[in-house]
Amino acid sequence: MNPKEHGEVFVLDDGGEVDLDLGNYERYLNITLTRENNITTGKIYKHVIEKERRGDYLGKTVQVVPHITDAIQAWIERVASVPVDDTKETPDVCIIELGGTVGDIESAPFVEAMSQLRRRAGRGNFLQVHVSYVPVINGEQKTKPTQVAVRDVRHAGLIPDLIACRCEKPLDAGTISKIAHFGIVEVEQVLAVRDMPSVYQVPILLEEQNLVNLLQDGLHLRDLQISPALIQKGRTTWAEWKALTNKAPQQILGRVNIVLVGKYIELHDSYMSVVKSLEHGAMHCSKDLNLVWLDAEHLEKKTLESDPALYHKAWHNLCTADGILTPGGFGVRGTEGMISAARWARENKRPYLGICLGMQIAVIEFARHVAGIADATSQEFVEGSENQVIIFMPEIDRENLGGTMRLGLRSTHFQNNSDWSKLRALYGSESVILERHRHRYEVNPAYIERLEAAGLSFIGKDDKGERMEIIEMKDHPYFVGVQFHPEYLSRVLNPSKPYLGFVAASAGCLDKITKEAMVSAKSDGPNGVQGAF
Ligand code: GLN
Repeated sequence: MNPKEHGEVFVLDDGGEVDLDLGNYERYLNITLTRENNITTGKIYKHVIEKERRGDYLGKTVQVVPHITDAIQAWIERVASVPVDDTKETPDVCIIELGGTVGDIESAPFVEAMSQLRRRAGRGNFLQVHVSYVPVINGEQKTKPTQVAVRDVRHAGLIPDLIACRCEKPLDAGTISKIAHFGIVEVEQVLAVRDMPSVYQVPILLEEQNLVNLLQDGLHLRDLQISPALIQKGRTTWAEWKALTNKAPQQILGRVNIVLVGKYIELHDSYMSVVKSLEHGAMHCSKDLNLVWLDAEHLEKKTLESDPALYHKAWHNLCTADGILTPGGFGVRGTEGMISAARWARENKRPYLGICLGMQIAVIEFARHVAGIADATSQEFVEGSENQVIIFMPEIDRENLGGTMRLGLRSTHFQNNSDWSKLRALYGSESVILERHRHRYEVNPAYIERLEAAGLSFIGKDDKGERMEIIEMKDHPYFVGVQFHPEYLSRVLNPSKPYLGFVAASAGCLDKITKEAMVSAKSDGPNGVQGAF
C-alpha cells in the first residue's frame, strides 16, 4: 500500500500492517484489533491455496464459489468471537465493513459471501447498512446514484436495512422519501449523514436520527444481558464524548498553528492517524487546530533555485507555526528539508515532535550542528557513508523487505536520568510504556556517548537498552523525538501523550495539561489506553 496512493498504513499491536480504516474502528470503538481483523483478497486466496496444497479439499475442484466464499465466512465467524477489549468478553456484535463499490470486480466474492452469511444468520442477527452518496448538482439533491446502488446490491443478494446517505447539506424531506421509496425501506430507515463542523459530532447526529433504537431492534440487542457497570461506563463515555466534541464557540480558546513537514503531503490520508492525534490533542487544549501542510522538499536549496517564491512561502509557513511536526517516512527525498526544519525548531525554541523518521532526522541534525559530526547521515539515505548515526538494525530479516520491519507493540523503558522529562510526566511518570512501531533503521549505538555528551538525552530505550526509543532536549519548551508511532494508539478521550504534549506546548498550556495528565494516569494504568476510552 503506497501511502500516496492508498493512504496511511495502519499498524496494530500484533504488528499487522493494515488498511487505515482499522484505525478508525479502534479509535471510535476503543477496541484493540489484530491482523486477522483485516481480510484482503490476497489473504483469502493464500489461505485457500494453502488448504488445497495440504489436501484439505481431498481432490475436489477448488472454486471461488463455494471455497473462497466459504473461507470468507469462516474467517469472519472465527474473528467475530475474539475479545477486543479489556473486558476479555466475547463481543456481542461484529461490524463487517464491505469496502469498495458494488459492482467492483474485486469485491464480487465478498458480496456473495455476505449474501450467504445474511441468509445463514437469519432475521435479527444480520443488519445491513448501505452507505451511499447524494450529490448536489445545480442545487438539486440527486438520488439516482443511491437508487442504482441499492438496486445493484439487492440484485447481488444483499438487502439494505438502513441506507446511510452521505451529503454536504441536510437532506430535504422529498429526497429522503424518494430514497426510501426506491430503496424499499421506511423513511425512518434512511439516515442523512451530512457534513458536520467536526467529524467527532457525527455520532451525535446519528443518535439524533434514532440509530441506537434502529440497531437495538434490528439486531435484537434488547435481549442482551449487559452488566450495570458496563452500562454506566457507556453512559459516562457518551457524556464525556458530547462534552468534549460539542463545545460552544466561546469555550474554544483560539487557534493552534501546527506545521506538518512531510513527504507524502499530496494525499492527506497518508498521515491519517497523525492528524487524528493532533485533533485529539487540540480538543483537549480547547483549541481549534490549524494544520499547515508543508512539502519538506520546498525547504531545500534546490527549490530556492527552481522556484524561489515556493521556497520562501514554505519557510514563512515554517517560521510562523506554533509547533513543527515531522512524521514518519521512507527514503532520502525531502530529508534535507526536514533536517532544516528540525534545526530551526531547536535553535528557535519552537515545539518539535519527530515521529520515527522525524526522530532520526532530529538526531542527524543534532549530530551535524551541535555534536560536530558535519557529514552525519542515515544508512537509509547514503549507503556506505562514513558517519552513519542512523543504521540498519534488523530484528529478523535482512533480505525480504515486505512485512519484516520492526513492527507492532514494544516496550520502552524511561531511563534513570529522565526525571526532568516533560514527556515522561505526561505518561504519568510510568517507567515502562507500550507503543506501536514500524521501522527498519535506528540510532547507531556507537554514537550515543558523543551525542549525549553534546547535550542530547536518550531518555527511553528498549528492553535491552540497545535501541533508542525517545530523545528529548532539556532546555527547550518541547523537543521530543520518538522511534515509535504513538498516533496509532491515540483516542478521542485519551489522546496520545507525545502529541498532547506537543499541541499543548505549541498552544502555551503544557503545564496545565501535564498536571491533568498526571492526575488521570493514576487511575488508568500504562499509557492510559486500556482504562479510559
Ligand atoms: N525509514 C525509517 C526506518 O525504516 C523510518 C520509518 C518510519 O518513519 N516509519 O527506520
